[in-house]
Amino acid sequence: MRKKIVAGNWKMNKLMDEAVALTSELVNMVNDEVQGDVKVILCPPALYLPVIKRYIEDSSRFDLAAQNCSDKVSGAFTGEISAAMLQSAGIGYVLIGHSERRQYFNESNAVLAEKVNTALANVVSPIFCCGESLEQRQNSDYIGFVKNQLTESLFHLTPEQLQAVVIAYEPIWAIGTGLTASAEQAQEMHAALRGHIAEKYGREVAEEISILYGGSVTAASAAELFASPDIDGGLVGGASLKSREFTNIIKAR
Ligand code: PEP
Repeated sequence: MRKKIVAGNWKMNKLMDEAVALTSELVNMVNDEVQGDVKVILCPPALYLPVIKRYIEDSSRFDLAAQNCSDKVSGAFTGEISAAMLQSAGIGYVLIGHSERRQYFNESNAVLAEKVNTALANVVSPIFCCGESLEQRQNSDYIGFVKNQLTESLFHLTPEQLQAVVIAYEPIWAIGTGLTASAEQAQEMHAALRGHIAEKYGREVAEEISILYGGSVTAASAAELFASPDIDGGLVGGASLKSREFTNIIKAR
């Protein structure tokens, strides 16, 4: 049975006291209201990770992810955070390949493959983000494009390594735009990606990989998206900054 996951990507938002307040509210609401085995992964700014960790420690439902890590192991890379540092701080997950990092920091599929490698070498699970632009969706083989992101950044892994990876399909045209992919559009891509994994690694491995949908998910759109057979949860940006809204999204999973 693959994991059901709802992750909240706070991006570069919230000051420290606001981040702590959001976490406390969220932990209380989720513990009171959420049934079932959904895992909640918070992705605060890296500076806050050890602080936020103290607030989630008593709830096994919660985990933390960094929003990025270096592709390098250690050394003279001012401003960077290594996967080993994340592990040493008790952080279990890291977002890799978010479209904002691909776009603003020129992260290529090859660099992302290195990030995946260093994360796995340090027992930090990558949440690997992929997705196409609006132009690609309208004018080209958009499914082939996203499949290729997986091929170039993940398909060098062994089956055991791949099973530690969570995939997040996030169409760029739906991120922060208020435009959500329809459940049919998202399911089409999720099924195609699972099929692509199955071709390389076999059906059994593919069935174990959690594939999350991200792109303007709200409490109103979550239930329909999460009801699709290949959508195992969500990666939520804007709506994860509001405790009530995010709790309702988690409840939909
Ligand atoms: C994201 O940044 O991963 C994201 C999905 O953002 P939003 O939910 O705001 O579209």
